[in-house]
Amino acid sequence: MDTPNKPVPVVNPWARPFWEAARKEKLIIQKCKDCDQFVFYPRIACPHCFSEAMEWVEASGRGKVYTYTVVENNAPSAFIRDIPYVVAVIRLDEGVQMLSNVVGCDPREVQCDMPVEVTFEKLNEEFTLPKFTPVKG
Ligand SMILES: [Zn+2]
Repeated sequence: MDTPNKPVPVVNPWARPFWEAARKEKLIIQKCKDCDQFVFYPRIACPHCFSEAMEWVEASGRGKVYTYTVVENNAPSAFIRDIPYVVAVIRLDEGVQMLSNVVGCDPREVQCDMPVEVTFEKLNEEFTLPKFTPVKG
């Protein structure tokens, strides 16, 4: 049986810079020029002060696992070959949270507050996904 292709992100115009940067293996997030808060996911206006003066800045790429789950079972889908895999909320050092995967380690090693750093996984010519891997040492 053929495994279907994985779904790709739906990209709205204001999120396009994020995906273009990811394709170049850069992790960028928004920052509000008026209140200096970092913002993720991509938005048209700052959720803190409603300013539309949003700029893109490169993130450190470092953070910690805020929470996670290990997917051990799955209905037949494009993800069946990845089992077991880790879906995690990563809190970046900048303070914003990002839903992603923890890769590059045994899923049983993943813990809350574990330091992680960004890594990139090319899905196809158009999309490269930021994922996170444990910081070594
Ligand atoms: Zn703001």
